[in-house]
Amino acid sequence: MPTRSEQLFTEARQHLVGGVNSAVRAFRSVGGTPVFFRRGEGAWLEDVDGRRYVDYVLSYGPLAVGHAHPEVVRAIQETAALGTSFGAPSELENVLARSVKGLMPSIERIRMVNSGTEACMSAVRLARGYTGRDRILKFQGNYHGHVDALLVQAGSGVLTLGIPGSPGVPAAVTETTVTAPYNDLEAVREVFREYGDELAAVLVEPVSGNMNCIPPVPGFLEGLRELCDASGALLVFDEVMTGFRVSLGGAQERFGVRPDLTCLGKVIGGGLPVGALGGRAEVMDHLAPTGPVYQAGTLSGNPLAMASGIATLDVLGREGAHAAAEAATRELVEGLRARAEAAGIPLSTHQAGTMFGLFFTETDPVTGFDDVAAADAERFRHFFHGMLEAGVYLAPSAFEAGFVSTAHDRVALDHTLEAAERVFAGLPR
Ligand SMILES: *Cc1c(COP(=O)(O)O)cnc(C)c1O
Repeated sequence: MPTRSEQLFTEARQHLVGGVNSAVRAFRSVGGTPVFFRRGEGAWLEDVDGRRYVDYVLSYGPLAVGHAHPEVVRAIQETAALGTSFGAPSELENVLARSVKGLMPSIERIRMVNSGTEACMSAVRLARGYTGRDRILKFQGNYHGHVDALLVQAGSGVLTLGIPGSPGVPAAVTETTVTAPYNDLEAVREVFREYGDELAAVLVEPVSGNMNCIPPVPGFLEGLRELCDASGALLVFDEVMTGFRVSLGGAQERFGVRPDLTCLGKVIGGGLPVGALGGRAEVMDHLAPTGPVYQAGTLSGNPLAMASGIATLDVLGREGAHAAAEAATRELVEGLRARAEAAGIPLSTHQAGTMFGLFFTETDPVTGFDDVAAADAERFRHFFHGMLEAGVYLAPSAFEAGFVSTAHDRVALDHTLEAAERVFAGLPR
């Protein structure tokens, strides 16, 4: 008998491309059938066959206070009853903006959008419009949403000039995109020597979260800041994933480096579609309507999404809430490391606030894309399916980071570590 998930996936493939609405959900790299869920509560997910899982995906990051937090649900319900969108200003936009600015002092002005992709797309346009330059530097293995100019597959070599990473992206759109290896300041210096006065912006995930989780090596972010200051390029931190996770004030707070612009998404909407672009007022004011760089959105700043973000940041910002989730993440990662070691499985790990990375490799620490690509994909596949079977939901790819919420309590952690101990012991050698 096929499971209910299998039945639903069979039908989904007749309606949706590949049966999914976001490519990463399709289980392509691990094999098997995506699990269909019917409910989430705190740290737990329940699938359509009634099985329960501790969730470390958390909708790929947004659910920093867990699923269906009562205060978030109430805020959404009460706001929905008053109308979901006005296409005109509402007070909740001020409230969320104030809350974000309070946590990230580099943000003097903010523009709400509907996704991380939109935030990054607008950041590129604004940086180009502000500087009057066209070139953008991004890093190998960093993801900034499916923005044409940023969908550049980094090839080998230090200076890989923009080759489109997807059909449908004209070479003309990416030829102004330069890539460099993450964490390699020498390579970045070389790019600046070649193109320094043509660069509009350097876009970086201050902690990489889209080649699993890789923190910056000491001096990397500081070096980017100095190079940008010297050349007049804007430093753009893509904190769509790291914002309100690496610390409450994002990676910029944790590492003490102040970007010119910050892209936000994920946690800022607490599970509803919100993205944001913020930064120095002098730069941000180049956006329409105060400036000439066009940007707009029918549903941008809608009260429903604002209410979800406000409630989420409220709960997360309470005394000790984020710190406790960070401590839970540390316990999880250290517990997994100890159990892998006891089982004789080489496991390299990273933690940055409530984000974590697991790598089946002898390389420790992992610092860049090549290290992640060289990890044992087959072993990850076995680990993933073993954990899924044991009631632990991890992202179905070795290139995704893991996430912990304020709802991951003793019960959830113990369940995870006990499962991992059994799964490590049973992995093929
Ligand atoms: C998820 C993500 C994006 C894209 O956000 P969407 O809301 O999926 O469009 C951009 N940058 C980073 C760093 C992300 O993790």
